[in-house]
Amino acid sequence: MAITNPRKLKSNQQEWFHYRTGELHVENLCLNDIAREVPTPFYCYSAEAMRWAYSILSDALSPIGVSICFAVKANSNIAVLRLLSECGCGMDIVSAGELERALTAGAPASQIIFSGVGKTRAEIARALEAGIHQINVESAAEIEVVAEVARSLGLRATIALRVNPDVDAKTHAKITTATRGSKFGIAIDDIPELYARAAARPELNVQGLAVHIGSQVQDLSPFRRAFAAMAALVTALREKGLEVPRLDLGGGIGIAVGDNPGPDIAEYAAIIAETVGNLGCHLTVEPGRWLVGRAGLLVTELLYLKDGQDGPIAIVDAGMNDLVRPALYDAKHPALPFHQAKGAAASPRYRIVGPICESSDDFGAYEGLGELKAGTLLAFDCAGAYGASMASTYNSRDLVAEILVDGDHFRTIRRRQSIREMLELEDAGDWQSGSAPARKAAG
Ligand SMILES: *Cc1c(COP(=O)(O)O)cnc(C)c1O
Repeated sequence: MAITNPRKLKSNQQEWFHYRTGELHVENLCLNDIAREVPTPFYCYSAEAMRWAYSILSDALSPIGVSICFAVKANSNIAVLRLLSECGCGMDIVSAGELERALTAGAPASQIIFSGVGKTRAEIARALEAGIHQINVESAAEIEVVAEVARSLGLRATIALRVNPDVDAKTHAKITTATRGSKFGIAIDDIPELYARAAARPELNVQGLAVHIGSQVQDLSPFRRAFAAMAALVTALREKGLEVPRLDLGGGIGIAVGDNPGPDIAEYAAIIAETVGNLGCHLTVEPGRWLVGRAGLLVTELLYLKDGQDGPIAIVDAGMNDLVRPALYDAKHPALPFHQAKGAAASPRYRIVGPICESSDDFGAYEGLGELKAGTLLAFDCAGAYGASMASTYNSRDLVAEILVDGDHFRTIRRRQSIREMLELEDAGDWQSGSAPARKAAG
């Protein structure tokens, strides 16, 4: 498949969303042609951008023996999972629902790692029965439950202990996961004793350690500190006669957004090689955002313009229920007009907001978009990760659709969920006084 004119960005990632004769294209398709068939808002992904991101990471990490598991929560559509799985990528899941998604997409159980701080017994049982690669446990209490569930099933659970190394990832507070007081992982000082106790249990096959310090990490030095702490811990455990064959280094590598060039993958690989490369451990990383973040747009149509106190406000048909990152993490998604803006420099500064009845439903201020008017189509960039997978039906809006472009073709990989389908799950009941509820609560 030939990609003509892929515009190189300042970043280390190839641009699969580009202007051709002034029109925004996704690979070889004009986005306007897609929007004629698919009602807005919708997510639009580039298959080639995902394959490209995987190949960049894999080319940097395979020479040093690192396996890659995609953090499914970043984009859990089964078409995306299948595409990455076909590239050879494993999966990092955080729920039984994500396990079903990964298996449905065709990912081998032997390449699935189960992370997460609050797994239920049913979820642990399902993962053990499916025969996944490893469960990363996050507390002493969870070790106990995994052992009990394994014993009751007559199985042996392969686990790793997730460490909280007390390293600040220097990212947004709401995506920082490895500082003291975080709910994630086991405090590094408690690991040696817990590891030894777990290793002594016949139901548990303790294979190693895991760490994940946070997300959208731009400065790589926290990775170096965390991985160095892991190396010291591996050495300490081995000195106590414990075996540590595996090390899971988590995800968190940031992506380029706007003028920010994003971290250098070669440097990330070098940090891994220098800190943990000579331990003889089998190494894994769990990137989510890096593999899909830049591979997706959220397409929206401008509904209304109104005069705000500080300039024009553009109200679009995509809201925080479709893309919650601005409201949740103060994220700013660059906006791309469908038609390349002419005289953009002189165009007004717009605040773009969604239709949801919340003040936080606000995408921020934008310049250089040209003249906007009702009916203008726009795409929010860098929306491939934590976009559709975090979407909701808040305000009883349809769950947003997802489209995947591959070369000259596109496919609807999730159709919109309608209000009809939503209402089918609900029961209005009959609440007139005197009428009995259908079922009495027990007790
Ligand atoms: C969310 C998460 C990841 C992926 O994080 P990214 O920032 O998307 O790379 C990896 N591992 C664990 C345990 C996670 O919770």
